[in-house]
Amino acid sequence: MSLSGMDSAVLCCFSRAMRYSGFRVFLEGLRGQTGWTPVWRDPEPKPEYDIVLIGGGGHGLSTAYYLAREHGLTNVAVLEKGYLGGGNVGRNTTIVRANYFLPGNSEFYSHSLKLWEGLEADLNYNVMHSQRGLINLFHSDGQRDAFARRGNAMINQGDDAVLLDREGFRRHLPYLDFDNPRFPVYGGLLHPRGGTARHDAVAWGYARGADRRGVDLIQQCEVTGIDIEAGRVTGVQTTRGAIRAKKVGIVVAGRSGQVAAMAGMQLPVESHILQAFVTEGLKPIINHVVSFGMGHFYISQSDKGGLVFGGDLDFYSSYAQRGNLPMAEHVMEAAMTLMPAIGHAKVLRSWGGIMDMSPDGSPVIDKTHVDGLYIDCGWCYGGFKAVPASGFAFAHLIAQDRPHETAARFRLDRFRTGVGLMDEEGTGSQHNLH
Ligand SMILES: Cc1cc2nc3c(=O)[nH]c(=O)nc-3n(C[C@H](O)[C@H](O)[C@H](O)COP(=O)(O)OP(=O)(O)OC[C@H]3O[C@@H](n4cnc5c(N)ncnc54)[C@H](O)[C@@H]3O)c2cc1C
Repeated sequence: MSLSGMDSAVLCCFSRAMRYSGFRVFLEGLRGQTGWTPVWRDPEPKPEYDIVLIGGGGHGLSTAYYLAREHGLTNVAVLEKGYLGGGNVGRNTTIVRANYFLPGNSEFYSHSLKLWEGLEADLNYNVMHSQRGLINLFHSDGQRDAFARRGNAMINQGDDAVLLDREGFRRHLPYLDFDNPRFPVYGGLLHPRGGTARHDAVAWGYARGADRRGVDLIQQCEVTGIDIEAGRVTGVQTTRGAIRAKKVGIVVAGRSGQVAAMAGMQLPVESHILQAFVTEGLKPIINHVVSFGMGHFYISQSDKGGLVFGGDLDFYSSYAQRGNLPMAEHVMEAAMTLMPAIGHAKVLRSWGGIMDMSPDGSPVIDKTHVDGLYIDCGWCYGGFKAVPASGFAFAHLIAQDRPHETAARFRLDRFRTGVGLMDEEGTGSQHNLH
């Protein structure tokens, strides 16, 4: 039977129900891939919504998805000044883990990892979540003690951690320089459920899920002002006109300070650049995510074969979204220290993203001083793994006007009162030490 002759009504109905099934892929192979349609609509902004989310990154899209799925709120718009996934959600090094130490972060990231583990089935979208294991190396007795403590905290939280000694790791990671005179590898903390996910696919999967539930995803729509009357938010000004809204969520990552300033807020957040690098495709060599704390360097291998790695922040405030050579040199030096063989690989690309650095290394998911205005920010260089739980908690806060239990400590006023500071980085509440 000719497929083109198949009853189109039946096919259309079938397509709607079975998008991204194995059978659909097979069918499209036979039809010359002519049956796929755009994954989300491209609607004009309406004059008014119940909820407007500013920012179409991972956190904005997941918030929209959970508003619709968990709370039945679909008169929602996500306003994105560029294109969906063009910010940090599509620029990160894709690491997903739940190895946080302190109360507040520990349960939040544990919840996030559980959401990750069901995400592909939930979204019916292949986000290539790969739990290949994450290893934090240690290079001194003191570091070993610190990681043993962290591992115990992870296990107490219900997550997994295995402390391996030097010989235990030598078998797993034969390509490392274990005997480097400056940073000999003493062992490492293995987090077996840690790993990676395909970052763009996460944005696309959430976008598709939100769109299918009726959320308007509006690209090329920059918010330029926030309207407030008598202490209550009433809408936003955008490059595509004014949009009224009963509630507004700011979820713009590296631009948080700028957008919050539109509502008269000065956030305790600094924007810094973080760079990433990728080599040419190589045969499989690294089958974990490996993190080298002494040099602040981490590496994994993508499914295409490229070695994906990064290091520290460019240590000055910027909105440039591209990095600078001194930090590139520093990262390459750390790579060569840990893994001398990497010197044979060619670096193909590097890029940068704007990080919203909070003083204590932990995020904010909270109301603001303006009624109906909410903020989700301060993800530092670790907000990709938080995308599911952040959206879940932010949606809960916006829908119910009270924090979700996993995010109750992410309060904005902790920086003013000093109460509840989390200090995940162990650096104290000082910006410049991040
Ligand atoms: C190089 C690099 C490596 C990283 N590696 C990791 C990692 O391995 N693991 C991990 O967990 N995290 C990692 N991160 C951090 C993570 O990517 C971020 O914390 C997270 O993506 C930030 O949230 P988001 O996805 O919502 O941000 P974004 O994708 O940046 O979304 C914010 C959006 O808001 C939009 N916006 C801004 N201003 C306006 C406006 N006025 N109007 C409308 N829209 C606006 C922006 O265009 C942007 O699309 C990394 C980041 C970088 C740059």
